Amino acid sequence: MNYKILAERLLPGEYPSTESYEEKYPPRALPKGAEVTRLAPSPTGFIHLGNLFVAIANERIAHQSGGVLYLRIEDTDLKRKVEGAVEAVKNALRYFDIKFDEGAEIGGDETYAPWYQRQRAEIYRTYVKKLIEEGRAYPCFCTEEELTALREEQTAKKEVTGYYGKYARCRDLTEEEIYQKLDEGKPFVIRLRSMGDPAVKHKFHDEIKGDITVPENDQDVVILKSDGIPTYHFAHAIDDHFMRTTLVIRGEEWLASLPIHIELFEALGFGRPRYGHNCSLMKQDGETRRKLSKRKDPELSLEFYRKEGYFARAVKVYMLTLLNSNFEEWYLKNPDAPLESFKFSANKMSKSGTLFDLDKLNDISKNELAKLSAEEMCAFLKAWADEYGTDAQKGYFADGEKMLKVLTLCMGIGGKKRRKDFTTASQAMEYIKYFFERPQSHEEYRCDGETRRALLSGFLTRYDPSDDAQGWFSKVKEVAAENGFAAEMKDYKAASEAYKGSVADVAEVLRIATTGRVNTPDLWTIQQILGEEETRARLKAAQ
Ligand code: GLU
Repeated sequence: MNYKILAERLLPGEYPSTESYEEKYPPRALPKGAEVTRLAPSPTGFIHLGNLFVAIANERIAHQSGGVLYLRIEDTDLKRKVEGAVEAVKNALRYFDIKFDEGAEIGGDETYAPWYQRQRAEIYRTYVKKLIEEGRAYPCFCTEEELTALREEQTAKKEVTGYYGKYARCRDLTEEEIYQKLDEGKPFVIRLRSMGDPAVKHKFHDEIKGDITVPENDQDVVILKSDGIPTYHFAHAIDDHFMRTTLVIRGEEWLASLPIHIELFEALGFGRPRYGHNCSLMKQDGETRRKLSKRKDPELSLEFYRKEGYFARAVKVYMLTLLNSNFEEWYLKNPDAPLESFKFSANKMSKSGTLFDLDKLNDISKNELAKLSAEEMCAFLKAWADEYGTDAQKGYFADGEKMLKVLTLCMGIGGKKRRKDFTTASQAMEYIKYFFERPQSHEEYRCDGETRRALLSGFLTRYDPSDDAQGWFSKVKEVAAENGFAAEMKDYKAASEAYKGSVADVAEVLRIATTGRVNTPDLWTIQQILGEEETRARLKAAQ
């Protein structure tokens, strides 16, 4: 068969020479050891923890080696494309402080652009044409129905499914058969003519999993679809070669396709980047562990973390804890160091499924937020409220000084011990709500209504906002004594049956009346922040 004529018939016209591409996209001038890594999401609109996991690993490996991280958009599958998805990817990764050096919607050095695969069609076709000319690729005219029937036949026979060996019907079509089908205008795809034998296995070094065994490929995979756009397999080989990627860290769902990729690089005559296949994130679900699922687990989506208002550094700390086995110990010793100063290594990444535990993340979040100053916390909450908060919540920031006082108190700043009550921005905003909105409901009082009213009115007659904390507390004691409660705890402990309760119970009534809650920081300070008018109004309303 004359492959040159066939190639011209299938992909007519002049294509640039392969040498010209090698010149156009030269090896990068980077110091020895510098890694070029990438994130290559499909614009499906769903960006998830797995993407972030891989992004952090790629970012660390690129930047700590003095290399480059770029963003490539793998938009070859139009069916899955969602409007605004690239913006969503960019925003999500920016939130987690993943800095790209170049890429789609990022800009940077244009040498290796374009970064959208659909804009690279000519490069792919050049190489498809070359493979056809060399007899390493051929047209396949099988219809969807025929392929489905083939799959069913193979499944029934318990054989490996796919287009390979004796099942690769179009692989050995004669020249006449091919031209006849082309003349009939039959649509076709281009498949790789595989030369591999899966019985032959090779040792392969995976940067994460270590030494593994990989069988040769024998699948005649589609490399160019009928619309003239390549498949992921083919496009990634071309792009990682010409964007001069040195290391591909990607999800382990791609491990099964590695034999195909190895053969494609060989067929194309390209040197291969190194690969690291990252384990999946698992969730403990009762007795079993399962992969985090898009349908069942809202925490899989990165949008979840932004909506809830997770502190980006906390999420990153947790991800690093999961990614590198020695990170936790390093972080204990260096709790305030920039995360970039941790030496990240691919070979310390987990080789099998990693357990993702939201409670653990929440603990880390509490610790991280407890490191912030009131000003930093305010900026973090405001940024969240601007995007996700209600109008009422946006209004909390109208009086900046008040907000700082609230945060100083609620975070225990300046006190003996920092409080760790905040987990996320949404939770913190709910927590501080009573400073800005009158409580609509009150947690349960532990005394009857008559006693409550007596205590509240006893306090109201004595209340003076100019009292200091001590003076204030003396008055609470007076109210206690007047109503049959022990003013001193030691008296109450000695003879609790002689009292209705203690001064602590009186303070609790005042606390619930003022804030709606049983647990709050120091009540005197809360009333100071609220001011006389508001404090009185709340105590009266609770009578
Ligand atoms: N487009 C592929 C995905 O979204 C990228 C895999 C890779 O990183 O090579 O899963």
